[in-house]
Amino acid sequence: MTLKGKTALVTGSTSGIGLGIAQVLARAGANIVLNGFGDPAPALAEIARHGVKAVHHPADLSDVAQIEALFALAEREFGGVDILVNNAGIQHVAPVEQFPLESWDKIIALNLSAVFHGTRLALPGMRARNWGRIINIASVHGLVGSTGKAAYVAAKHGVVGLTKVVGLETATSNVTCNAICPGWVLTPLVQKQIDDRAANGGDPLQAQHDLLAEKQPSLAFVTPEHLGELVLFLCSEAGSQVRGAAWNVDGGWLAQ
Ligand code: NAD
Repeated sequence: MTLKGKTALVTGSTSGIGLGIAQVLARAGANIVLNGFGDPAPALAEIARHGVKAVHHPADLSDVAQIEALFALAEREFGGVDILVNNAGIQHVAPVEQFPLESWDKIIALNLSAVFHGTRLALPGMRARNWGRIINIASVHGLVGSTGKAAYVAAKHGVVGLTKVVGLETATSNVTCNAICPGWVLTPLVQKQIDDRAANGGDPLQAQHDLLAEKQPSLAFVTPEHLGELVLFLCSEAGSQVRGAAWNVDGGWLAQ
């Protein structure tokens, strides 16, 4: 399958899952709009290896004006976005009564509202070109809860709901919208939770094992490449009637 001539915008793609997905899409021939914090040079170099064009925009997606600037860049450089992967997300763990108000606002803004804004900005061009794919990286926490993750679980359930609505509103077109719901993937976001468990002299390897053993029956991490390959399938003709789905890739987490 080739995505030559298509443009993919992957939010939060300077590290972790977003970078892994961007690499798989670039390997299939898509030009890439990268976004995220930190030095973008390593990510841009990874993408360039595939002989496609890539640009980076450092938009903070908790700010609507910056989201609009990101899409304006994609329009200027590539004439629009064919594949939108709404991936950027953050986590904060605290009991609901002690949840910091600013963390709640930031998580809802980035993990949920930015998905709405990206979708509304990408859809008109997709409809005009009569092809598009919107893929929202939700989480198993879009389908079940866990303690300490009030804002994250609320936002991800919201993303799964939004995905259904957009899937329905585009159902008779060649635009599809789906969510992917990963279990544990070993990225900086999860490493922080492992480090927190191992704080006060705990064994990091034991902390990693305990984190998996609590929820993920395979006792193995999902990888960004696994998720990238599923994104690629959703971009293919075979994936064209998957609409409004929330597809878990979770080592068995939700089978329990
Ligand atoms: P990560 O921390 O490795 O990467 C997050 C990316 O988002 C980075 O590029 C970062 O710069 C960017 N980012 C952070 N705040 C931003 C902001 N305000 N504006 C723009 N970009 C911002 O995280 P990850 O684990 O790769 O997570 C990616 C997505 O996958 C998130 O939505 C997360 O909720 C979801 N997810 C992760 C896991 C997991 O186990 N890692 C499981 C399920 C779902």
